[in-house]
Amino acid sequence: MSQKYLTVLGATGSIGSNTLDLVARNSDKYEIEALTANQNVDELAELARKFNAKMAVIGLESLYSDLKAALSGTGIEVAAGNQGLVEAASRPVDITMACIMGAAGLRPTLAAVKLGNRVALANKECLVAAGSLFMSEVSKYDTELLPVDSEHSAIFQALDDSSKRNIEKIILTASGGPFRTFSLEELKHVTPAQALKHPNWSMGRKISIDSATMMNKGLELIEALYLFPVGPEQLDIVIHPQSIIHSLVSYIDGSVIAQLGAPDMRTPIAYSLSWPERINTPVEQLDLAKIASLSFEAPDETRFPAIKLARQAMLQGGNMPAIMNAANEIAVESFLCGKLSFMEIPAFCERVIETIQVQIGDKSPLSVEEVLEIDHSTRIMAQSLNIM
Ligand code: NDP
Repeated sequence: MSQKYLTVLGATGSIGSNTLDLVARNSDKYEIEALTANQNVDELAELARKFNAKMAVIGLESLYSDLKAALSGTGIEVAAGNQGLVEAASRPVDITMACIMGAAGLRPTLAAVKLGNRVALANKECLVAAGSLFMSEVSKYDTELLPVDSEHSAIFQALDDSSKRNIEKIILTASGGPFRTFSLEELKHVTPAQALKHPNWSMGRKISIDSATMMNKGLELIEALYLFPVGPEQLDIVIHPQSIIHSLVSYIDGSVIAQLGAPDMRTPIAYSLSWPERINTPVEQLDLAKIASLSFEAPDETRFPAIKLARQAMLQGGNMPAIMNAANEIAVESFLCGKLSFMEIPAFCERVIETIQVQIGDKSPLSVEEVLEIDHSTRIMAQSLNIM
């Protein structure tokens, strides 16, 4: 494999760190072009030096001079703010790892799409908020879009071009999160510290809370709808607490193809970087005899109503997925700082959707600018609901 240039948008996060861990182990295969973060100047500067990045960008403009000082004398180009993030994403590279958290990743990720090379997509919120618009840019620029989410990577690995016409169903697995066995009463009292402790995966704060409410699985349904050639009725969820099977594709002849592996994001990240080849990772090989048994159960939408809400958003389409996504980002932040209880997260999202759709209707956004406007209005609305 010839050496590839790589930009990591969201380098200081959980996916960013795992990506850079793989780059360090495969330094003959990957070279870093640009790295970005939002506020973590020290870590960004350290990574930029360590990986000889050509450019480092900090999202918060007020931190520009701190980053400039931290990288002085290195020759590494420094920028800040939304424009800086887009500039970093627009530098020609072979692969962009898109792992900024939330809708904030939309503009830079689209800038990377416009390069027409490979985008490894972890930032599922891009597809939730702007699915059709995002995918039409992918086809316009003939971009190679590789899923990083473990479920979508599993589905990608279980599909080949000839079998795409014969899919009966796609089944997304879900661990069920830290509260899988909690009663409704117990769920009312869970704390941010409990919700941040995922039983199988180590992840950033927002996705950890999304996994606990199971909104994450709802967002993944919408993500799968745009990534794969299926309709909403062909998307199912099954709870699989061990997180060994990462998802399955069921075909019309009765075959079901699954992808298995230890719950370590370095496997799907490695695949998104190296496809169609594979590279070594330090991920532990599966010992099936030791695992002994795998179990499955149906999701419970009464205890985890976020799944139902996301399914409704997927079916309704229009601006609802973008509104739900923004409302959820705000609700998660509010839960983490003690302003909402755990069970209020989906209830709050529902209230925001209802209120804002009365104001702006439910028409589909026609441009990325309109998606960002919807995102912005939703955040303002949430503030007026007096929880921020
Ligand atoms: P983290 O919170 O760990 O990292 C997020 C990264 O994005 C950090 O580099 C952060 O910078 C940067 N960032 C956050 N907000 C902004 C902003 N407003 N502008 C610019 N940069 C920003 O998240 P994860 O790595 O866990 O997740 C990243 C994405 O990948 C999410 O969309 C998530 O859903 C998806 N994903 C994550 C998985 C995981 O295992 N973690 C699995 C599958 C998908 P700073 O550090 O400076 O704040």
